[in-house]
Amino acid sequence: FLLPFGVAAGLALGVAAFLMARRHMGMPALLRRALNKRELFLLYQPIVDLHNGRCIGAEALIRWRRADGSMVPPDVFIPVAEASGLIQRVTEQVLERVAADAGSLFADYPAFHIGINLAAADLQSTRTVELLDLLMRKTGAGAHNLLVEATERGLMDAAEVREVINAIHALGIEVAVDDFGTGYSSLSYLETFALDYLKIDKSFVDTLAIDAATSQVALHIIEMAKSLKLKMIAEGVETEAQARLLQERGVQFAQGWLFARPMTMAALREHMARQDAQG
Ligand code: C2E
Ligand code: MG
Ligand code: MG
Ligand code: MG
Repeated sequence: FLLPFGVAAGLALGVAAFLMARRHMGMPALLRRALNKRELFLLYQPIVDLHNGRCIGAEALIRWRRADGSMVPPDVFIPVAEASGLIQRVTEQVLERVAADAGSLFADYPAFHIGINLAAADLQSTRTVELLDLLMRKTGAGAHNLLVEATERGLMDAAEVREVINAIHALGIEVAVDDFGTGYSSLSYLETFALDYLKIDKSFVDTLAIDAATSQVALHIIEMAKSLKLKMIAEGVETEAQARLLQERGVQFAQGWLFARPMTMAALREHMARQDAQG
């Protein structure tokens, strides 16, 4: 059948205008829509104790699946969220998601902890502390069930940041410096924040087990962290050789494809159940 010409033309124009608007909709607008439509979700990557390979926690890693099924990686959209003032809304949804996903997790595994990535803006706002507190009350999680990951870049020498870190500590939540070594701060500067964990960035883990010269910086970071009594989590561990070397050097915890990839909470629960069955 045929539509009257005017209606058909109007429709075609409407569709064309819609498609054009879409093409011209920048990433911030798309991200804002994703937030409204709750297109963001979390995967959890197991963190293991290198002594026995057992999963003792997981890092929450955000994912964005567009309506057309395509995935936008966090390395792409987190910087956009930071630049466009949307990051705190992202963080709020992350914390809501953790609360929704965690269910009976902490009741079943009282020592389990979930690592949450915070951005620079989150570390400058006491709202973040309120949201963490709310998350604990909603899930029945204890402070030891959460670990906050703050990037080196986020740990600025600003009164607000120190206030937020202190308040997070006051809740009893431990703090990790994420991606250490990829920025310009020294460990002695970071020490002024009284941090608990240092996450060794994948770029350093990659240098391990290649040869002695290549791995110098990584080994140096490990020694400094030890002298500052920081617990360590190595990220991006892909080979047995890396895992062995890290353990020999006194690194307690690790995450990486060698152990497990990021997975849904349902898959994480199955992973834990299998671990329980193995005794
Ligand atoms: P990150 O916090 O350093 O997270 C570790 C990244 O390494 C994750 O990438 C993880 O999937 C990846 N990874 C872990 N093990 C391996 C491995 O063995 N091999 C390789 N090739 N990669 C591995 P992902 O999920 O793409 O996240 C990238 C970054 O995006 C994160 O780095 C973090 O800075 C940021 N991000 C992720 N989720 C959030 C979030 O909820 N909030 C904020 N603010 N940032 C987030
Ligand atoms: Mg992290
Ligand atoms: Mg990291
Ligand atoms: Mg990293």
